Amino acid sequence: MRRAGRVVAEMHEVCAAATRPGVTTAEIDQVARGVLSRRGARSNFLGYHGFPAVICTSPNEVVVHGIPDDTVLVEGDVISLDCGAIIDGWHADAAITVPVGDIDDKSARLIEVTRESLDAAIDQLTVGHTLADVGGAVEAKAEAAGFEIVREYVGHGIGTAMHEAPEVPNYRTSRGRRHRIRTGLVVAIEPMLTVGSPGTEVLEDGWTVVTVDGGRAAHFEHTIAVTDDGPEVLTLP
Ligand code: MG
Ligand code: MG
Repeated sequence: MRRAGRVVAEMHEVCAAATRPGVTTAEIDQVARGVLSRRGARSNFLGYHGFPAVICTSPNEVVVHGIPDDTVLVEGDVISLDCGAIIDGWHADAAITVPVGDIDDKSARLIEVTRESLDAAIDQLTVGHTLADVGGAVEAKAEAAGFEIVREYVGHGIGTAMHEAPEVPNYRTSRGRRHRIRTGLVVAIEPMLTVGSPGTEVLEDGWTVVTVDGGRAAHFEHTIAVTDDGPEVLTLP
């Protein structure tokens, strides 16, 4: 999973570098495909319930699961890039949100707080804590900054499949309180925060998740292993 994680980190690097005004989301997907083929990795996104690309590209009011297409990015956009890879049957999954050129202060703050909420959640992913502590860390960061948390989509266990038990909500739940974190657990934590209302709907393509009020969203995700020495983020370069 470390090897798969490094491939995903490289996808983030090259996709973020390719993200600028005038580029289409399909072109970013092509860049990601190049990394998979150079590294001998398979895609866990392509063909997943029929998904047609190796990354999800989710600009502005799109929360997650956006399909790369001929959409041209413009200065001031923000876009989330969700990437995944399989090496020798083992999966990794991670997302970043990046600015397209210069962006407004509110959007920059949204990106910053969403990244910080993931970092705070990772800090809680240690033996003796529960998944409620992980979700609670996201909740505390989002609330303090005045952003909302999307609740319809959650993080997940990951291993020989992209989505395994347990669910990892980005808020405290009673089920999470009962789930003690043990060494060997590997999860994808993925907070999604919004500027306005956190309510979402799925567009007619069956994939694209947007905010109902059209406000912007940000999404960060890492694949993290629990070790005796603490959390090990597998999707870092
Ligand atoms: Mg995920
Ligand atoms: Mg993902």
